[in-house]
Amino acid sequence: MATSLLRVPPPQGLLQPLAVPERLLLGPGPSNVPPRILAAGSRQLLGHMHPEVLQVMDEIKAGIQYAFQTQNRLTLAISGTGHCAMEAALLNLLEHGDTALVAVNGIWGQRATDIARRLGANVHELLKPPGEYFALWDIEEGLARHKPSVLFITHGESSTGVLQPLEGLGDLCHRHGCLLLVDAVASLGGAPIFMDQQEIDILYSGSQKVLNAPPGSAPISFSERAREKMLRRKTKPPSFYLDMGWLANYWGCDGEPRRYHHTAPINSFFSLREGLAMLAELGLESSWERHRANCTQLCQGLCNLGLELFVKEEKARLPTITTVRVPEGYDWKEITAFLMDNHGIEIAGGLGPSVGKVLRIGLMGCNSTSGNVDRVLHALRDALGCCRRSRL
Ligand code: PMP
Repeated sequence: MATSLLRVPPPQGLLQPLAVPERLLLGPGPSNVPPRILAAGSRQLLGHMHPEVLQVMDEIKAGIQYAFQTQNRLTLAISGTGHCAMEAALLNLLEHGDTALVAVNGIWGQRATDIARRLGANVHELLKPPGEYFALWDIEEGLARHKPSVLFITHGESSTGVLQPLEGLGDLCHRHGCLLLVDAVASLGGAPIFMDQQEIDILYSGSQKVLNAPPGSAPISFSERAREKMLRRKTKPPSFYLDMGWLANYWGCDGEPRRYHHTAPINSFFSLREGLAMLAELGLESSWERHRANCTQLCQGLCNLGLELFVKEEKARLPTITTVRVPEGYDWKEITAFLMDNHGIEIAGGLGPSVGKVLRIGLMGCNSTSGNVDRVLHALRDALGCCRRSRL
């Protein structure tokens, strides 16, 4: 009788078909992936050094240059999510003992602080309550006091729904001998950003928000100033995988023959390429306008439901992600669960410092439509009627 050497049986779950329900993703990301991008991601593999894949990478690079409005040579996509780009930016820029200033008005500043401290940097935080943004004079004071070599700031604070104005910030940083590092994961394509004109030195984003591609690739770009700082490093970046020298070569940014660094997530690149292509076809200005108009319609509808917008100043509202205060007498978890169970719609509660305070509704890329605004408002009206809890 044959006896098996296996002590672990095949898992029952894997013997069932993959289950993926239909959902409308109106949280802070990921957003739904349209058929064209899904189709690109399911194309047959090619080798990661095949000329056709290198060509796709070149197209991605040009697409990022357009989306970022930059001519930077050192522009590429990281093989990882937004966090991976955040780590890539910080670990290539900072060395042990470098001083960094981090603008913290939500979770992303907190995370950047954590990462920079892990790298042994001397990190100072500029603090603002969730829901607020930084004025130039707040930053100027921090720059003068701490003399950092890098300032980190978040353009679209997805945990609070705040859009950070960037006008004048690059110039200010440069007058203080500091590089400007901007997180645009939640805002790229949804709100204007001009990397070169605004003198941003390092800018990164993600694939799964306005670009409507699956998570797993993250656009990033470095100015000449940032490149020079990296060239002056005394020590190697502490990660091989995210070493910008290697990545620059693999992405054809250094004029040298391309060498194998890692096996790129080729199908993620196909998807990202299509996401960038759709943005290029629509045009940045139309995309910004679409997000602005649908956000305005959503905000109006939320107010009509008696909900209170978390970000008071209209111009400081992130057009991709809207935050409302959790209404008195309601449990945010019941509202999000109600929308999911009864309407197949994802919206989210708060994150980090906004947990328990807000509900977050995302309208990003193809999901930013007037029809989706109506759907989520209808679902919320239903939830407000059904979820009220007198004991709260
Ligand atoms: N920064 C911001 C502003 C974000 O909204 C997110 C994603 N929610 C991230 C960084 C991190 O991206 P990821 O989840 O893709 O790692």
